Amino acid sequence: MTARRLDGRELASRIEVDLAGRVAGFVRSAGRPPRLVVVLVGDVAASASYVKSKAAAAGRVGIDAEVIPVSASVTTAQLVNLVAAIGRDEQGPADGILVQLPLPDQVNAVAVLDAVPPAQDVDGFHPENAGLLSQGRPRFIPCTAAGVQRMLIDAEIETAGRHAVIVGRSDIVGKPLALLLAGRGPGGDATVTLCHSRSGDLATWTRQADILVAAVGRPRLITADMVKPGAVVIDVGINRIEEQGRSRLVGDVDHDAVADVAGALSPVPGGVGPLTVAMLLENTLQAALARKSR
Ligand code: NAD
Repeated sequence: MTARRLDGRELASRIEVDLAGRVAGFVRSAGRPPRLVVVLVGDVAASASYVKSKAAAAGRVGIDAEVIPVSASVTTAQLVNLVAAIGRDEQGPADGILVQLPLPDQVNAVAVLDAVPPAQDVDGFHPENAGLLSQGRPRFIPCTAAGVQRMLIDAEIETAGRHAVIVGRSDIVGKPLALLLAGRGPGGDATVTLCHSRSGDLATWTRQADILVAAVGRPRLITADMVKPGAVVIDVGINRIEEQGRSRLVGDVDHDAVADVAGALSPVPGGVGPLTVAMLLENTLQAALARKSR
């Protein structure tokens, strides 16, 4: 079997076309573009590259993105104050605020994320937004989880009544995705198993999956023998490895071997990553629209 390729890049560009039209409508009625403020702390190469692609995508759809660079030696209090000031629009209207993770070790990341006003929290990490999602009345859905669900819906992959196994229980990917897939409605109504580092023999769980999502951060953790023939496999992982003398990105799924077993498979790069960015833009427009109607 050669798995159907779930092309996130192609879907993200369709979403961008649709967003550009809706952003233009916002600009006509509000007299200004939606605005996203990104706080980038330190000089982690991967973070800088993610921020660059988020800002570039914002620009393509007409969202104004400003990146605020901050020294790696910043304290928690300084960062909390900066985020709060952005939230009060002291640096121009901030419809959406995003603090790029990870933060340096000396910073209490929870305190910083909690300082993002919930109505501007386009990453959906504030406890108020996490709570709303858990009650099935989401405001901002964390972008990667939303991107995975959008990918399934767009590919017309039935989730209702199927067994979804998610590997990874982080607050930013695994947990919100479990809530989405188990929730009611399109892209939901699945029976969900959430696996993690203490799940024991992972293959016991993953082999039962109709839909398998890997969000761990371990290169090629999911091998072909861990996948039920015909299953849908979504690879969220982004891992930089050195192989045959060169650096490359791979996912959490052993792509080529799993492609022979799975029914559908998302690639890395070009799978969930571009959809994460597209969902951030969706959330930013939604935040701008909600602010306008307040
Ligand atoms: P995290 O480190 O916060 O969480 C990893 C999770 O994996 C934990 O819940 C842990 O219990 C689980 N885990 C670790 N080792 C395991 C094992 N051997 N077996 C089973 N479970 C195990 O990571 P995260 O922030 O959720 O990110 C996960 C991966 O997804 C990373 O590679 C990250 O780069 C990637 N990611 C991609 C996107 C995207 O846009 N595509 C967005 C966010 C994160």
